[in-house]
Amino acid sequence: MEQHFDYASVNIETPYYIIDRAALRRNMEVHADIQKRTGCRILLAMKAFSTWCVFHDMAPYLAGAAASSTNEVFLAKEEFGKIIQMYSPAYSESELKAVLPHIDYLVFNSVNQYERFRHLVKEQDRKIHCGYRINPEYSEVQMEIYNPCTNRSRFGMRAEVLADVTMKGIDGLHFHTMCQQGSDVLFRTLELVEERFEKFLRKIKWINFGGGHHITRKGYDVDGLCEIINDFKDKYELEVFLEPGESHVLNTGYLVATVLDVIENPTSIDVAILDTSASAHMPDVIEMPYTPEILKARRVLETTDTDMPLEEGRYKYIIGSKTCLSGDIIGEYLFKKPLRVGDRVVFADMSQYTICKNTMFNGLKLPAIVTCDSDTPDGNVQIVKEFHYEDFKGRMS
Ligand SMILES: *Cc1c(COP(=O)(O)O)cnc(C)c1O
Repeated sequence: MEQHFDYASVNIETPYYIIDRAALRRNMEVHADIQKRTGCRILLAMKAFSTWCVFHDMAPYLAGAAASSTNEVFLAKEEFGKIIQMYSPAYSESELKAVLPHIDYLVFNSVNQYERFRHLVKEQDRKIHCGYRINPEYSEVQMEIYNPCTNRSRFGMRAEVLADVTMKGIDGLHFHTMCQQGSDVLFRTLELVEERFEKFLRKIKWINFGGGHHITRKGYDVDGLCEIINDFKDKYELEVFLEPGESHVLNTGYLVATVLDVIENPTSIDVAILDTSASAHMPDVIEMPYTPEILKARRVLETTDTDMPLEEGRYKYIIGSKTCLSGDIIGEYLFKKPLRVGDRVVFADMSQYTICKNTMFNGLKLPAIVTCDSDTPDGNVQIVKEFHYEDFKGRMS
């Protein structure tokens, strides 16, 4: 759909994240359609996105939330409602005591942990479904930091470890081995899961295919995903969960910043310094790493997916942050016009792994949180939260 709303036009001091609820609803409809066609249940992995001011736009379409900590469980309970499924590489006793009254599914990473805490689960007056996370020892994720199947992995049990374990009290399995991938990767992963864990698949009632399904990206094979889920459900008579994070909010958010200075560099590329930071406000730019898209500009090194012909992008800048970390560079870009102090720069696709991961490094102000709805005539802008000195002082103590 054609976007007419100008995300940079909000009359508020930058930086701010702005979430477009119209884009969010379109993503939600894709997920709702998959649930309808397959009967699977889709959860929101809260570690990717916990900005609860828009949970009311999401929860009606989804089955619930996937949480990994007490904070996430409480937030899911208060603001999302519906099913809460929990997984963490290890639980403490106090943590489990706090969350058990609120959760419906609990995934253990090891037999040790299950044996240690199963009495707490039994003491609850509601049924809590317990599962084991498995490690299928197959992942097509290239980057080590995102690969949960290396031989040093701490996630889940390998088939040889699970081989002699009784499944008493356990009625589900969970794996999470993908990152920004298509349904073809899920297909190949499931072949290995079946080969290595077949006897368990016949004993359990539910399985969680984890996250990393890039469902809402252009060209994702939704039909293929539905077919895979339906085939698997028929074969093993299981309930299937998906718990993506990124796919729910892909391309729904922007980070708007202002150019504070432009430094001419006669020996290299000119540098524009912005009132935002990769390290503090979009940490995956450094961690992953990747170069985010800027609206109306072009990433250098990029050869595809642009509507700006090469010759038009004549003004080249390194876009840097205002922190004192040397490597806090967002990337190199070509602009149609020279950048000037006061210009606003809009980074695209900034909902996932940003707001829930940002920091106050260097005392930087956290970006405000704004929502809009580009399907409405006036954009329905709402300034949800601004951060101040007290937020910084309160955290540092
Ligand atoms: C991070 C994570 C997810 C969500 O992954 P996305 O790549 O955001 O879809 C789901 N499940 C588990 C266990 C995770 O750690």
